[in-house]
Amino acid sequence: MASPFVDKVTISIRAGKGGDGAVSFHREKYVAAGGPDGGDGGRGGDVIFRVDNHMNTLMDFRYKRKFAAGNGAPGGGKRCTGKDGESIVLRVPLGTVIRDADTGAIMHDMSSGEDFVACRGGRGGWGNKHFATPTRQTPRFAKPGLPGEEHTVLLELKLLADVGLVGFPNVGKSTLLSVVSNAHPKIANYHFTTLFPNLGVVYVGEGQSFVLADIPGIIEGASEGAGLGHDFLRHIDRCRLLIHLVDVSGSEGRDPVEDFDAICSELESWSPELASRPQLVAANKCDLLGDDTENLERLRKHVEAKGHKFFELSAATTQGSRELMLAAADELDHLPPVTVYEPDYVAPESAPATPEDIRIVHDGDTWYCEGDWLARLVASVNFGDYESRMYFDRRLRQAGFFDRLEADGIQDGDTVSIYDIEFEYQS
Ligand code: GDP
Ligand code: MG
Repeated sequence: MASPFVDKVTISIRAGKGGDGAVSFHREKYVAAGGPDGGDGGRGGDVIFRVDNHMNTLMDFRYKRKFAAGNGAPGGGKRCTGKDGESIVLRVPLGTVIRDADTGAIMHDMSSGEDFVACRGGRGGWGNKHFATPTRQTPRFAKPGLPGEEHTVLLELKLLADVGLVGFPNVGKSTLLSVVSNAHPKIANYHFTTLFPNLGVVYVGEGQSFVLADIPGIIEGASEGAGLGHDFLRHIDRCRLLIHLVDVSGSEGRDPVEDFDAICSELESWSPELASRPQLVAANKCDLLGDDTENLERLRKHVEAKGHKFFELSAATTQGSRELMLAAADELDHLPPVTVYEPDYVAPESAPATPEDIRIVHDGDTWYCEGDWLARLVASVNFGDYESRMYFDRRLRQAGFFDRLEADGIQDGDTVSIYDIEFEYQS
């Protein structure tokens, strides 16, 4: 059976295409030749990611993997603008990292709670109302809408917790979380009860709190992919502090010092950086020890020799849990904030244009230019921004676009019309 917990999933998302502009002429009784009144196409809808604080898995994406926003409607007569396409909102848990599926580059880290527009809808094409000039009074053309952006993205859940609980299955992690926080994880005396990471908020004092995550049991060999543990290690990637629980009661017939070392080497092989993160070590189930404190003392010596703080705990009776939480809060005061991943995704340069890619026709002094490459370029440029316009100009130049216009006989002062933009040509 597949795990019901989904924390990594690849989906494809596509924004809507812009609607096409309309060709239409004003008609009215007694008005002989009405002017062009074709409206613009509507904008395509966006694909937007939004944090949902009630979610802690990406399960919703398990069966549905393709998402598309609505297309813009075409423009109409009488200067009617087409309706904009419907945007779609995809809800994800806080801490979801969105990557480009091909390169693995980070596009966005959903850890601020703000929306992220992953694919922008295409702009609507201009209707023919825009194209009337003194010398061209009946423009019989309009512009097509621009395509929407599309992406294949990898969603990866990296929970946002200050403190991660690690340790073998059954050592009492869920029990501890349930007694110190508002969370109600499942507790049972068998391994891998916890299939979902559980998060709880721990209030230690006036206005002081932190988020504690119960990570399902990490077992030996987990970092090589054995068992369930492997999938869960990534959730502690961004914890600022680890609380490492060890069962010292011997109730599972294991040796606490060996257990401690085994978990440390699991962490180490997953990420040396993670293994070196500050750890508080708590010896749990102390209530079962009676007079035999040999295990406890051996572990204490071992752990303290490695420079970690050591605590005695009985999660079941809550003995020692408050001290442990206070110590955690204390440590957090001195530690850097939770890591937020900076985007490092760079949109690939659109393929270089070959002359066949660009179609140029001219009507009097206006030069109409179209083609897939141009459409993508125009869609990617924000014409309100100077830098972007310079970029646009550079790309056209590099593609040999102006050379072609010159060769075809363009004159200074002629109009260049590319989709929904027009400018005057100056050599
Ligand atoms: P997890 O797998 O690490 O989350 O462990 P659980 O919290 O589910 O606990 C596993 C078992 O150990 C359960 O039966 C708990 O009741 C028991 N347990 C947890 N903490 C203590 C403790 O401090 N003392 C005793 N005696 N039992 C405990
Ligand atoms: Mg558990």
